[in-house]
Amino acid sequence: MYTNKPVLPEDIRKIVTRAVAKRVIPCVISELIVLWYVIFFGEMSFKMVGIEVRILIYIVLILLPFIITGVPLKLIDRSWKGEIIGINVDMGLDRSVNGKGVREVSYLVLKIKRDDGKIVDHTLSVFSLGYTMQSSRAKSEFAEDDYAVGDKVYHYYGIKRLLIIHEDKSRECVICGSNNPEKNDRCFYCGHSIIKKTF
Ligand SMILES: [Zn+2]
Repeated sequence: MYTNKPVLPEDIRKIVTRAVAKRVIPCVISELIVLWYVIFFGEMSFKMVGIEVRILIYIVLILLPFIITGVPLKLIDRSWKGEIIGINVDMGLDRSVNGKGVREVSYLVLKIKRDDGKIVDHTLSVFSLGYTMQSSRAKSEFAEDDYAVGDKVYHYYGIKRLLIIHEDKSRECVICGSNNPEKNDRCFYCGHSIIKKTF
């Protein structure tokens, strides 16, 4: 099915809304606290400094919630679609392993040509070489062979994972990354909707 606007299934849309709210609500609340403080206690708290310095302090205080929460910059995102034009394996070090030091890991990097002509790299989740896989994530993420040049990819506003449609029409779940056969409406692994309507 094809729509010209990105439409998300209800359950996935809720996850996006929640994620946006999680950023916006703390920002709004802290902004209100700052304003309340500045209005009622500003003059009293900063009476030792001149009006210019006081205004500067107010500006910093008012900007602080935005800087800390990343709103609205982190919310600027748009949906796009594209196609895989290259698949690479990159090596790197992972320092975040249970505090047990460093291990060598490899990354699968998809080179994607977006519909606006931009070429972007998309790194898939980390997998280790020579270690037992600790993650229960779907195997599809760990196998280079599962991806092919020409696979269609879709990015939906607010979702980190891409919807990847493979040659055999199987689709990856945008929530957990499991690859689902064409017939699945829900992910066999996490139960979320598989996005069927592309744009
Ligand atoms: Zn899933």
